[in-house]
Amino acid sequence: MIFGNTKVYSVIGNPVKHSKSPVMHNAAFNALGINACYVPLEPHSNDLSKICSLIKTGVLSGSNVTIPFKESVVEYVDVLTDEASMIGSVNTLYPKNGKLVGDNTDGLGFKKSLFSDLGFNPEKKSAIILGAGGAAKAVTAKLCQAELESLAIFDIDIDKAEELLNHISKFQYTTKVILIKSEQVDEYSKSSNLIVNCTPIGMNEKDPLLVSPNVFSSKQFVYDLVYTPPMTKLLSSAKSAGAKILNGMDMLAYQGAESFSIWEGVKPPYEIMRKELANA
Ligand code: NAP
Repeated sequence: MIFGNTKVYSVIGNPVKHSKSPVMHNAAFNALGINACYVPLEPHSNDLSKICSLIKTGVLSGSNVTIPFKESVVEYVDVLTDEASMIGSVNTLYPKNGKLVGDNTDGLGFKKSLFSDLGFNPEKKSAIILGAGGAAKAVTAKLCQAELESLAIFDIDIDKAEELLNHISKFQYTTKVILIKSEQVDEYSKSSNLIVNCTPIGMNEKDPLLVSPNVFSSKQFVYDLVYTPPMTKLLSSAKSAGAKILNGMDMLAYQGAESFSIWEGVKPPYEIMRKELANA
């Protein structure tokens, strides 16, 4: 039920109609009896600052941020948390003492699902990341923080790849990070212990397979941030070769639960949030 004093949270993105975050967060509010609701907002980029003002002044209690605003929203934030600075983008906003705080929970979601759930041990391991946008920033930061030995990054947009490399270079990571070209993707995919898809490729049935089907082996871990469909072509090919696979659903649930906990200061009902996502 919505009352006069119901708190309103949101997810800001464009497009955002496909987002499963409202289902997950509204289920969590219901489960804990919290008088709040969570709605999707799809502003034009010119209106992003207005929505940020609504959060800063407490009209909206908090928000998630998704494509394409995770980086552009930073300019409206008064206080950037250490985590958001390290990742270089924001996916969680909330007001504090009249200021707008920007945080990022994507990295934590990736870290928990890859290291705890999938059981990947980064020690002396190599990885290839496909895509160098907002999500890749969180993934890269967590892999470098975990002292992965080496990391190859490919993006069809060379400027994005260079921007990501420049960002990582500001930190004293021990991980050797290189940018690779499209003709090197198969070679690096074959030799890497971990392959991570941080592109939207795989969401549509007609999308191509990002790498040749013969690169996979049973010793590899393959992580696709895409979660719709749950079994992408990439994951299906990797699974056929015996690789350990995971889609982005757990990362989505973990990052959502962490945002919820930041906003409400209570333990989030993770299992309920995860179940609602799977059912959505
Ligand atoms: P983004 O900022 O748009 O970055 C994606 C990057 O991939 C872009 O630079 C894009 O280049 C590039 N790209 C597209 N096709 C490619 C290809 N064939 N090879 C190499 N690079 C390619 O998007 P994002 O925010 O990082 O999100 C990426 C995906 O991760 C989306 O599907 C999103 O839904 C998913 N995601 C999942 C979670 C989760 O919790 N599971 C969290 C965040 C994001 P162009 O811009 O030139 O196309």
